Amino acid sequence: MVQSANLGFPRIGLKRELKKATEAYWKGEIDYVTLRKTGAELRERHWRLQRDAGIEVIPSNDFSFYDQVLDTTAMVGAIPPRYRTSGAANGGRIASSARTANAYAMMADVAETAEILGSVDLDTYFAMARGSAAAPAMEMTKWFDTNYHYIVPEFYEGQEFRLASRKPIDEFKEAKALDIHTRPVLIGPVTYLSLGKAKSPDLEPLTLLNRLLPVYSEVLADLADAGADWVQIDEPILALDLSDAQREALGVAYQALTRGRVKILLATYFEKLDDNLALAASLPVQGLHVDLVRAPEQLDAVLSVWPRTRVLSLGVVDGRNIWRTDLSQAFKLVEKAIASHGRDNLQIAPSCSLLHAPVDLASETKLDAELKSWLAFAKQKLIEIQALTRAASQCRSAAEAFDASDAAVKSRSGSPRVHDANVAARLAAVTPRDAQRASPYATRHDTQQKRLSLPKFPTTTIGSFPQTEEVRKARAAHRRNELGDTAYDTFLREATEKAIRIQEELDIDVLVHGEFERNDMVEYFGEQLSGFAFTQNAWVQSYGSRYVKPPVIFGDVSRPKPMTVGWSAYAQSLTSRPVKGMLTGPVTILQWSFVRDDQPRSVTCRQIALAIRDEVADLEKVGIGIIQIDEPALREGLPLRRAHWDAYLRWAVECFRLAAGGAADQTQVHTHMCYCEFNDIMPSIAALDADVISIETSRSQMELLEAFSDFRYPNEIGPGVYDIHSPRCPHVHDMTDLIGKARAHLVPEQIWINPDCGLKTRKWEEVLPALKNMVEAAKKMRESA
Ligand code: GLN
Ligand code: ZN
Repeated sequence: MVQSANLGFPRIGLKRELKKATEAYWKGEIDYVTLRKTGAELRERHWRLQRDAGIEVIPSNDFSFYDQVLDTTAMVGAIPPRYRTSGAANGGRIASSARTANAYAMMADVAETAEILGSVDLDTYFAMARGSAAAPAMEMTKWFDTNYHYIVPEFYEGQEFRLASRKPIDEFKEAKALDIHTRPVLIGPVTYLSLGKAKSPDLEPLTLLNRLLPVYSEVLADLADAGADWVQIDEPILALDLSDAQREALGVAYQALTRGRVKILLATYFEKLDDNLALAASLPVQGLHVDLVRAPEQLDAVLSVWPRTRVLSLGVVDGRNIWRTDLSQAFKLVEKAIASHGRDNLQIAPSCSLLHAPVDLASETKLDAELKSWLAFAKQKLIEIQALTRAASQCRSAAEAFDASDAAVKSRSGSPRVHDANVAARLAAVTPRDAQRASPYATRHDTQQKRLSLPKFPTTTIGSFPQTEEVRKARAAHRRNELGDTAYDTFLREATEKAIRIQEELDIDVLVHGEFERNDMVEYFGEQLSGFAFTQNAWVQSYGSRYVKPPVIFGDVSRPKPMTVGWSAYAQSLTSRPVKGMLTGPVTILQWSFVRDDQPRSVTCRQIALAIRDEVADLEKVGIGIIQIDEPALREGLPLRRAHWDAYLRWAVECFRLAAGGAADQTQVHTHMCYCEFNDIMPSIAALDADVISIETSRSQMELLEAFSDFRYPNEIGPGVYDIHSPRCPHVHDMTDLIGKARAHLVPEQIWINPDCGLKTRKWEEVLPALKNMVEAAKKMRESA
């Protein structure tokens, strides 16, 4: 019979229990016994919830106190040397007096700590994730094309592996004790090595495979002893362009691992298998999971190579979004699979782990009923999977679920809230001319210089100033209606004025208003645009205890009225120096939202671009001469497969240009990007045709600029001269050195001087001396120029 399966459940808890517990543990407010108890409660709750939803194949080891890749690092004992010295672990939590109060309890229970993660104790685990006084944190990066971040494994010369954490086995047993038979989830060895970084020269992580596999075999054997019959091994790299070495490694790995007693379901997701399909089919695993939400078109090919004797898991419910599944549509795929594969070895599942979806729609009490009827969070998705499974087993009781789904699809596709004829008409009328500034950069530069008369090496900042406790408190009080509109407005005006005065005193050339009125660079705009909705509890894990609550773009986007003009105009009225208008770009707004799935992302992005374009026009009208359109997420939107890059970059660049293209020659358009590898998208960055781009370069000591010089970047650049994420105050000479390096790649007329990102996470005590030094560095450069 067809089985219902899940690949992973969000671990954070409906009320963000995991965040609260881990953060309390770090602050020393609770001990690890309490933390561990919260973990166990969440696991039990989620296993029961899945069983109650009728899911037959329930995952275990999908829980994590921080990150599943870090769990794998702990499992295989790949603890970087800097955490192995005594004392290195202690900064995993923040030392505080409350912590000392728990010291006794801590010491008394050392053996129990070890139990959680084998010989990798919890504090070492958190130290790896967050850093300690003795050892900086491991690097973190995005998990494929999601907004989830994992801790990057590190490999060293002479790297050894050993089974150092029995978490997968312990959690399997824990579920078993609750009478729930689970399918443990592991990150596959080839994906694990591929995501890691060699920290010694000439070390190629994949060459460590033979040393790593015995640990996996041991885990599988122990799982078999504990009673597991299946295990889900995730190899999402199968959705990428693979090297020969990776292909070979996959062959070697699964030849070895399938020799054990547990059967392996190999899980792929986020893209179609494409040219890796034959390889996947050739692996001797007993089951394969494919993502049919991202790539429904791959089903035929999969069915043609995957034999009926092996399990096929159909990912037909979107694991990464919040839309209700069109069950009738999804069922067509299921029927097709049944026709060729039969029912016996078929599973119905979400497209990927539900880690990327919020927990439960039922906790949204403020969304209207209609909108709610279009959505499904993790819990609802399980119910959809179960309905599809019942239908696949020709069970009549599924009809009700299908009727409700059909009704939702119909209401959504016909809703005037979703489809705005004016937006459609405007989009249809867009011409290539709209994405083009009136004159080329060189002409614009002269016009702008006449208007702005900026010095050489002009100084500026990226936009935000410290979001102090005071600012956050005022915003929270305003949200709770405890602080009236007028009082809040006065508070923000004062904060803005203070920021302007400070910048004048520091002698910065191009000022910013400070963004005190913004909670978040996407939410602030989304709240003012039509077509967006906001949830109360739709949190998803971004990294560790950091969760985000992305806005939902459900309908055509337009801008009913100006969004930022009041603040920019006010700030400009306070000073004779130019104040930059600050906007978030269309690609970033798209990228950091839950995006509607009923039209291409490119169309939604163009709509947002036109809304931003309107804002640009209104900023110009009140006399704002410089407008920055931030696009920090431009690069992260890149598709997983290179073959799709060009198409994406084409529309992403076009959207930025649509947003900026209406600006007059005399308006200087800036953009900002951070923390990404620019080298491979240089032509697209240049194609944005922003007059000035500010980028992060200080961490890589301007290496990044090589890309800009190799490419001969034509416009102006502000290569961030200091790392705002570091609490250390940069010296003047640090920055003059860096600018000196920049000069090797750029002509002086091109160079702006600014920090590498917004300053909202810093304190004023840190910002003031840093900016003072930055301005001094700029002045030194002018003298020597
Ligand atoms: N203007 C934004 C700020 O200064 C940019 C933030 C970002 O790059 N992520 O905060
Ligand atoms: Zn930034």
